[in-house]
Amino acid sequence: MIRRCDDLPDGTVLNADVCVIGGGPAGLTVAAELAGTSLRVILIEAGGEPGRPLGLTESSVADSQGDLAPPLQIPPRLGGGANEWIVRLPKMQRGVRMLPLAPFDLETRSWVPNSGWPITWSELDRYYQRANEFLGLSSLGYTLEEWEDTQHPRLPLEAHGFTTTMEHFASPSVFTKSIRQTLADCANVDVYLDGAVGAIDGAADQATHVMVDHGTAGRVQVKANQFVLAAGGINNARLLLSARDHAGFAGSQVATGRYYVDHQRIGVGSLTPSDPGIFRTAGLYDLTTRASTSVMGKLTPTEALLTTHRILHSGSMLLPKPPAKIEQGLTDVRSLVSRSRQPGTPRPSIASLAKTALYIARTGTQMAAQQRRLPPRIDAGWSGLTKTSFGRFSVETQIELAPDRNNRVHLGNARDQFGRRRPEMFWRWHELDLHTVKTNTALLATAFQKSQLGRFEPEAWDARPLLTTPNGAFHPSGTTRMGDNASTSVTDCNAKLHSASNVYVAGSSLFPTVGYANPTLTIVALAIRLADHLRPSAIAVAATPVSG
Ligand SMILES: Cc1cc2nc3c(=O)[nH]c(=O)nc-3n(C[C@H](O)[C@H](O)[C@H](O)COP(=O)(O)OP(=O)(O)OC[C@H]3O[C@@H](n4cnc5c(N)ncnc54)[C@H](O)[C@@H]3O)c2cc1C
Repeated sequence: MIRRCDDLPDGTVLNADVCVIGGGPAGLTVAAELAGTSLRVILIEAGGEPGRPLGLTESSVADSQGDLAPPLQIPPRLGGGANEWIVRLPKMQRGVRMLPLAPFDLETRSWVPNSGWPITWSELDRYYQRANEFLGLSSLGYTLEEWEDTQHPRLPLEAHGFTTTMEHFASPSVFTKSIRQTLADCANVDVYLDGAVGAIDGAADQATHVMVDHGTAGRVQVKANQFVLAAGGINNARLLLSARDHAGFAGSQVATGRYYVDHQRIGVGSLTPSDPGIFRTAGLYDLTTRASTSVMGKLTPTEALLTTHRILHSGSMLLPKPPAKIEQGLTDVRSLVSRSRQPGTPRPSIASLAKTALYIARTGTQMAAQQRRLPPRIDAGWSGLTKTSFGRFSVETQIELAPDRNNRVHLGNARDQFGRRRPEMFWRWHELDLHTVKTNTALLATAFQKSQLGRFEPEAWDARPLLTTPNGAFHPSGTTRMGDNASTSVTDCNAKLHSASNVYVAGSSLFPTVGYANPTLTIVALAIRLADHLRPSAIAVAATPVSG
């Protein structure tokens, strides 16, 4: 059943075996996995029904220090971040990149401070397989061998330390439609929308209830035997840190909010190929649909290269660009359309505008006819465009950042509309991050040159790399990280708080390190694992009914 919190009278008390806080991919996966069991589950979501993207609003982080900008806030809605997924797939669909972490991402690496997961990759892999099914992804895997064929060969970079890994693309509708419907029809799960959990309360090492604010209408209380925090990478920490403000439950620990980490996407340079035919033959690196699956290859350093050069993990995308003259023409057209031409800039010539218009018309017609995709961005489907003349690839790298104890989410003095303290952040580059960007770019340049693929021109930067998304990649992680040691982690290997017997966490705030892979496949895998863990223990606890 799906209801709104403000349909409930002020002071209502709800009882559950399991209370899930947050209805994004993490919380919805836990709830869906507990659907159809004998457990009574209540999911509380701060936002309303899923909907079309509204555009990202100002950050909910009240203040930020350090040299990296805080993440943008995702408007609260059932489905969480899935409402914003923007990768454009063919046939006007939207999608999201799915990729597992690599085995060595979970290992303790001597050159990466605070690295090492408390679970093995083979343990996680069992759940990756279930996460693939849960997300409706192809049974074909993520290795190059499964996708390479004579029409889609790999680039010959392996002798020079770079391999290719494949990403799949999942549909946001798994979370915004299918699971929503499953839960609406389900007898043992109730979803309450438009209710923001503020306080978690209880005894020192055990939560007993949460207080939910809804609009101006008042407060609802949810009592439960087990709690799952699934409010996203910033808000999971915020909820635990807020517990410090309350007498009773003391779920927050010294590491809560620390080790904040996200990915950064960096424009590292451009590759002018020696053979222009590469724009048709490098389809493995394009976002294409094959065997009914949307996939895309990325260039990643081998484990040997990472170890030798003591760098963090990364994945690089190739994005074709028109020749420099046309690119200038596109900039001119954009500034004419938006009337933002700087005074003093020379007027574009008629000939240049005509060539650019021809390029747009040709590309647009082909995109619409062959790819059922709309121009002007050519970030996918480019290998099928036979008549378009590209000039170079822009190379964009997503890098893992080092978990740094000083990078953290903490509570400030500013308050939200319910009087709750808002989060603030400290986030700065770690020297290993900068070493990784420089070294990985230089290694890529050497690999392109040695394999005679073309001429690579790195982007020039002195102090800071050129970010393509200045507020991070929307993957806030690490703030309730898993680990064996309570002074450097917040949750144990089962995602349970070290400091409480009945509070668990779901989401990327659990990740001790993040690899370069986008997080949602791992979030879903860990959420399924958590539901497996909760099912028997919650049933045992449920034998004692919640009082009140
Ligand atoms: C534009 C964009 C593109 C992305 N692309 C990719 C991609 O290609 N691949 C990928 O893997 N990931 C991608 N992501 C990230 C992905 O969306 C997140 O990994 C995922 O949404 C995290 O799921 P979650 O459930 O942990 O958190 P969220 O999705 O943030 O969900 C948390 C939910 O909790 C609710 N909530 C918060 N506080 C409270 C409270 N106090 N009480 C009740 N409810 C609360 C929120 O309203 C929200 O619905 C992208 C994100 C964005 C914004």
